[in-house]
Amino acid sequence: RFSSPPLLIVVAAPSGAGKTTLCSRLLADFGELRLSVSTTTRAPRGSEQEGRDYHFTSKEDFERQIREGRFAEWALVHGNYYGTSKDVLAGAFSRGDSVLLDIDVQGSASLKQAFGDRCATFFVAPPSLEELEKRLRKRGTDSEESIRRRMENAREELARSGEFDFQLVNDDLDGTYARLRAIVAGILRRKP
Ligand code: ADP
Ligand code: 5GP
Repeated sequence: RFSSPPLLIVVAAPSGAGKTTLCSRLLADFGELRLSVSTTTRAPRGSEQEGRDYHFTSKEDFERQIREGRFAEWALVHGNYYGTSKDVLAGAFSRGDSVLLDIDVQGSASLKQAFGDRCATFFVAPPSLEELEKRLRKRGTDSEESIRRRMENAREELARSGEFDFQLVNDDLDGTYARLRAIVAGILRRKP
């Protein structure tokens, strides 16, 4: 049901559900996967680094890049712009690498629409909204206002989980990762 690699592997989840954790494990296990580093207008958080976690930029520069058609998809998430550069995707594909994308539900839908069977989409759900809020607080990087906005957004994203090719509930981290890894191995045509 998917083309042969290189492919886009899209992982979306409400903020705090464990997407960053799961994506780092995939990158460690699959050498042929490149992380798409997104561009954003939000401020760096914690130990985030320019060029590794995001390309951080101004609202003016982001809007210029939209006008110039530089994004494969972009979205406004929690009041900030986030986007995937066409250059990042083209660069990986030209080297035969598949691309892992940690993006929101709107961006996932745009890429599925644009890339069809070259794109596999995963939705990672938290076991419950209560547990999600707990994880956001435990992470300790978000303000009260930011947590409130992320929780509101989570309700809307969960309602769209049915649009994805695969759904995973991130209850036990190791178990969830084992399921994710097995599906990705199949899609990338790896031996199990
Ligand atoms: P996201 O990238 O989706 O915003 P993170 O990967 O940053 O989420 O995870 C949010 C917090 O929850 C982190 O502190 C992480 O260690 C923790 N976490 C991730 N998965 C689980 C899990 N299955 N059980 C408990 N805590 C988890
Ligand atoms: P955070 O601020 O927690 O890093 O990310 C907030 C949300 O924006 C997450 O759901 C994340 O996946 C999403 N996001 C990050 N990069 C992109 C992108 O390039 N495009 C889209 N549409 N969403 C993104």
